[in-house]
Amino acid sequence: MPRDYYEVLGVGREAGDDEIKKAFRRLARELHPDVNRHDPAAEERFKELAEAYEVLSDGERRSVYDRYGHEGLRSGGFEPNFASFGSVADIFEMFFGGGDLGSIFGGGSRTGPARGPDGAVEVELTLAEVATGVSREIEVELTTTCSACHGNGAEPGTPIETCPRCEGTGQLQSVSRSVFGQLVRTMPCDACGGDGKIAATPCKLCGGRGHELGVQTLTVDVPKGIEDGQRVRLSGRGHAGARGGPPGDLYLLVRVEPDPRFERHGDDLVTRLDVPFTDAALGATLPVETLDGTESLELRAGIQPATVLRLRGHGLPALRGRHKGDLHVVVNVLVPTRLDDEQRELLERFAESANGETYPEDKGHHEGLFDRLRNAFRG
Ligand SMILES: [Zn+2]
Ligand SMILES: [Zn+2]
Repeated sequence: MPRDYYEVLGVGREAGDDEIKKAFRRLARELHPDVNRHDPAAEERFKELAEAYEVLSDGERRSVYDRYGHEGLRSGGFEPNFASFGSVADIFEMFFGGGDLGSIFGGGSRTGPARGPDGAVEVELTLAEVATGVSREIEVELTTTCSACHGNGAEPGTPIETCPRCEGTGQLQSVSRSVFGQLVRTMPCDACGGDGKIAATPCKLCGGRGHELGVQTLTVDVPKGIEDGQRVRLSGRGHAGARGGPPGDLYLLVRVEPDPRFERHGDDLVTRLDVPFTDAALGATLPVETLDGTESLELRAGIQPATVLRLRGHGLPALRGRHKGDLHVVVNVLVPTRLDDEQRELLERFAESANGETYPEDKGHHEGLFDRLRNAFRG
């Protein structure tokens, strides 16, 4: 025996239409399949709820139910019209074509010509271009507004008429009885695509669609500081919409070519500087390649292998804000591998003169290159 409909809705027998509707919406929201995935109990409760509302929202059925109860309805031929549906999701699908909460409970339906699809194109930059940002000419295949009819789909010189199907409103309405009472659905007209107007003679070039596919050359700006794998959205530069609908967006998929001289860590760069062991011992000023030229770097006498020096502001600009990264220079001490007789003799004499003061304590030698780099980034 089904439960009492008033009990199901949690309202009194004197409840008005408004109160019944409110109670139903509140409970339906709680039991919606998006909220209660794979909960059979919730599905059963929703079906019960839908049936209760189906009856109590209809004055005639309600009075039959009030007088004769469930039996009276059944003998009067009432069948809940969703009885054959397997799940709540199916019921929502039947009434609302999709059944998401937004469209059922107050979300507006979209009308007007459809927006065009998004496009995507890959753009490859060098690290130097990342430093400055770049304006780039690209070729991309896009649908564009038809050059003959300018998007209205009519053969030039022929009239555009009011769409007979929607009578110029661009919208079609379907009215149905449902558990939610009288339900009006609005959707874009399928004859004119939501335009309200239709071509008497379709454009020969585009077949009346209003757009054509072609390779376009575009100039696009890629912002400085961008990283490999990031996307840039160019609003409204994608495919043209149907019949004058707004265009979609164009996405640039950014690839940054690796530069063998530099390793990137966010906005910072790391490079290696080869330093002859004599320069390391005596001190020297050496040129360092940066992204935009050459800088002189002063090395103090006795600088140790894998020392990291920082050239401030010679990294990459941040994508947002004014920050600029640094260039970290890792000292790579070169040890000679081939000595002639004279060099060998000089080094032997040097070795003989070396004493306990010549070499530094072994402090920090346990600290590897990567520890030093990590410390450098911390500073
Ligand atoms: Zn055309
Ligand atoms: Zn129409």
